[in-house]
Amino acid sequence: SPTIGVLALQGDVREHLVALAAAGALARPVRRPEELAEVDGLVVPGGESTTISKLAVVFGMLEPLRAYVRDGRPVYGTCAGMIMLADKLLDGRDDQETLGGVDMIVRRNAFGRQNESFEAAVDVAGIAGGPVEGVFIRAPWAESTGAAVETLARYDGHVVAVRQGNVLATSFHPELTGDHRVHALFVDMVRAP
Ligand code: GLN
Repeated sequence: SPTIGVLALQGDVREHLVALAAAGALARPVRRPEELAEVDGLVVPGGESTTISKLAVVFGMLEPLRAYVRDGRPVYGTCAGMIMLADKLLDGRDDQETLGGVDMIVRRNAFGRQNESFEAAVDVAGIAGGPVEGVFIRAPWAESTGAAVETLARYDGHVVAVRQGNVLATSFHPELTGDHRVHALFVDMVRAP
């Protein structure tokens, strides 16, 4: 089985560890550059992207993480993790750093306050067996995407799942459902990059 890390600076780390294990990976938390070097793929969890960004700087992880993405290693980001994987942000904090990796402009908290949290069925390209349960919590969307980016899912017309090369990102949180198909898709990406 591939070993997949979950960036454990802030956010719903435990839920991703459980989902990855259920999808057939050896899952472990990653906080330090030495730990990052040992994993075959990485999940950037949901949480608060401004905090993850700040802690990545404090822990000396920003450049190692950027290099990891640049080197084409498989990375999957959910929600705040999707924000971290955007080349550009709208409504980010002024000092907010991202890792980049996907040629997209992501709007933070795009689904708005009246809809801070909701669930909806989402059809995801490449995932068989019907729609996944999309859990959206102060979720972003991709406001525009470059030519190299494959849109995997939309909700209400907005892009909520993308892939570019070995980088996968979703606005929603499959790790909070019992459905491990999106994690299984990522485990397959790690197995055959
Ligand atoms: N709105 C949060 C952010 O900007 C993301 C929320 C989430 O990950 N559920 O980081």
